[in-house]
Amino acid sequence: MTIFKKIVLYFPRRLVDQPIVSRLVKEYNLDFNILKASVTPDEEGLMVLELEGEQEDYDKGIRYLTETGIRIQSLSQNVIRNEERCTHCGACVTICPPGAFELDYVTRRVNFNNDKCVACGLCLKACPPRAMELHF
Ligand code: SF4
Ligand code: SF4
Repeated sequence: MTIFKKIVLYFPRRLVDQPIVSRLVKEYNLDFNILKASVTPDEEGLMVLELEGEQEDYDKGIRYLTETGIRIQSLSQNVIRNEERCTHCGACVTICPPGAFELDYVTRRVNFNNDKCVACGLCLKACPPRAMELHF
């Protein structure tokens, strides 16, 4: 059975330059599409991937990634903003790797674009009134 998944990979610093993702193709027959790659404030590498392949190959590929020390998050998690709590302080704007927050200079409000969110969770701790919430 062919499956299609979106996941986030967190690379520790020592692995950032390694050709890890290309091994998913060569050794595990998985097709991938990189949707986003960046470095978090902790200098961890972050990559959002779409993976497609047979379930068995996918499971082996994920096992390989975790055994190398990569943390994996499935995008079945969803981060939403509690609009009643948000004070538009702007603390989340620069810490979000894919840039899901945008300051509107006219209204002085912070807009949240959920489509860009990769559910990394960084804004949950950074938000003073805890307006960002993780839902499963
Ligand atoms: S850090 Fe929290 S309160 Fe401040 S703008 Fe972002 S979501 Fe709103
Ligand atoms: S969880 Fe927060 S910091 Fe992470 S991508 Fe989504 S909005 Fe940005």
